[in-house]
Amino acid sequence: MASVFSKIIEGDIPCYKIAESEDYFAFLDINPLTKGHTLVIPKLETDYLFDLDNDNYSGLMLFAKRVAIAIKKTIECERIGVAVIGLEVPHAHIHLVPINGIYDIDFSKPKLALSETEFMEIATSIAAVFNER
Ligand code: AMP
Repeated sequence: MASVFSKIIEGDIPCYKIAESEDYFAFLDINPLTKGHTLVIPKLETDYLFDLDNDNYSGLMLFAKRVAIAIKKTIECERIGVAVIGLEVPHAHIHLVPINGIYDIDFSKPKLALSETEFMEIATSIAAVFNER
């Protein structure tokens, strides 16, 4: 059965999309640690990040870098933190989290409750910066 993230790529489940290329996809995490918390995934469904072949893995990292730069230009923060957990969804993904301190990337803390309008505004703003060049 297709993973929830494959269904998002196919458009069968809605998401707040940030960016897409031939092989990769980025969208807002629905349970964000901070505003702009984004997931970057390979389209090829693979459970474990480090099972990706070298080309797909490198491509994913380069795509994540472009997305992170767009997030940093959009959301006021000190840095974009990077995390890989993968315990919940069996489809490799990289968390990009705007942070001002270590506490902002503590996955055990309560997540933000954002309205649909807030999610839309964040996604649209980051996507616009991503598509600038
Ligand atoms: P983990 O697999 O532990 O890295 O966590 C999976 C992440 O995916 C969590 O932060 C969830 O909030 C996020 N997530 C799960 N389903 C969705 C969805 N439909 N749209 C956006 N984010 C999701």
